[in-house]
Amino acid sequence: MFENRNCKHLQCRRHVVHGSEFCVRHLPDSASHLGILSTMLSDSRVFESLSLNRVPFAGQNWSGKSFDGCSFMGSELSDMNLDGASFRHCFFDFSRWSNVSAKGVTLLFCSFSGAQLKKVDWTGSDLLHVNFNSLEASDCLFSESDLYFSRFVGAQLKVVQFVDCNLKKTQFTGSRLEQVDFRYSNDDEAEFDEETRTP
Ligand SMILES: [Zn+2]
Repeated sequence: MFENRNCKHLQCRRHVVHGSEFCVRHLPDSASHLGILSTMLSDSRVFESLSLNRVPFAGQNWSGKSFDGCSFMGSELSDMNLDGASFRHCFFDFSRWSNVSAKGVTLLFCSFSGAQLKKVDWTGSDLLHVNFNSLEASDCLFSESDLYFSRFVGAQLKVVQFVDCNLKKTQFTGSRLEQVDFRYSNDDEAEFDEETRTP
């Protein structure tokens, strides 16, 4: 699992970022270290136990790459290509995503608690046992995906498509749904509150 040592900066309780003794905010040479991380992510294909909390990522291509036991909590992903990538036991809690193509992705036992997603396309993905609780998502596509046993408890979903999805045991209790499209999906096998569903 990723490193969870605390940053060496006085009284800082954030976790260190991969390859440093400091958190992202207290990196002595931030630009250089973030550049090293960016090169590492573009040059290799398989990653394990990386601690990348609060790291900003923009314009990177992670398509087909594989991540296991990595932490991206509070990170920012913008204008990214993640098509065909796979993430197992990864943490994206409170991360912010915008303009991300994530088609044909595998997410297994990952957590997006409190994350914000804008214009993220998950079409054709396997998103299994994923914690999307308290997620805020707008203009997102989950269509043609398998969301078996994933949870959107307390989530706010606005203009989101779940067309032709497997929603067996997917939970939407306590969530707020606005212009959410469940056509051709087995939403009768998902869990909703009585008042959650909108036409
Ligand atoms: Zn720190």
